[in-house]
Amino acid sequence: MPQRIGVLGGTFDPVHIGHLRIGEEVAELLGLDIVLFIPSAAPPHKDGQEVAPFAHRWEMLRMALNGNPRFQLSDIERRMPGKSYSVLTLRKLREEFKGNGRCFFLVGLDAFLELHTWWRFQELFRLASLVVLPRPGFDPAFIEGFLTREVSREYTRQGEGTVFVHPSLLPVRCLSCTELGVSSTQIRRLVRQGRSIRYLVVPEVMRYIHANGLYREVF
Ligand code: ATP
Repeated sequence: MPQRIGVLGGTFDPVHIGHLRIGEEVAELLGLDIVLFIPSAAPPHKDGQEVAPFAHRWEMLRMALNGNPRFQLSDIERRMPGKSYSVLTLRKLREEFKGNGRCFFLVGLDAFLELHTWWRFQELFRLASLVVLPRPGFDPAFIEGFLTREVSREYTRQGEGTVFVHPSLLPVRCLSCTELGVSSTQIRRLVRQGRSIRYLVVPEVMRYIHANGLYREVF
């Protein structure tokens, strides 16, 4: 039986409870064997914007994922040269799993609605089954329009449900998970303002941020 692998890529600057909770809920709902958290080494979307060094983002993820047997941290994007493009990462993952893995690519609705700006984004729909997670402030009703406009007119909604199917591309699901309004941007801002981030990140990550003086400066 091929493994069912959830893939959650991001900058994770820093990892927060929103990331952890979607990993947990999707794993449960779709019966995933593994959820791979993949920090981008060279994020293509953050040009001109300072991002904390990879080593810090990695260390915070390592602490946050600790203790969850399904969660795994992947250095695949650090091992690849150049920008961290999701299409290249998914191609490489499929190579590494050699047909023994079925990939589910988890994206927040905010990121999904920006997908058309990603390099070779249409190939994503051949490489992995997309799982779109709600994010406060973004309307799931836009998913269908986005799919048929930007990817293929042949995507159709299955029954009354939230799965979109296609004759040759992989299905896209919109799952209803707990909506947590937390973002990394919010956490960086709170730290800069000297305010509390307790309960928005796991305690080890909170301590790490303070001990290493992260996010105190305006980038
Ligand atoms: P930033 O505020 O710096 O843009 P972020 O909080 O969106 O960061 P990322 O590391 O960029 O975090 O996100 C990685 C993935 O996780 C993206 O697909 C994003 O949409 C999703 N995501 C992040 N936070 C949440 C959340 N609270 N609920 C659902 N999805 C989320």
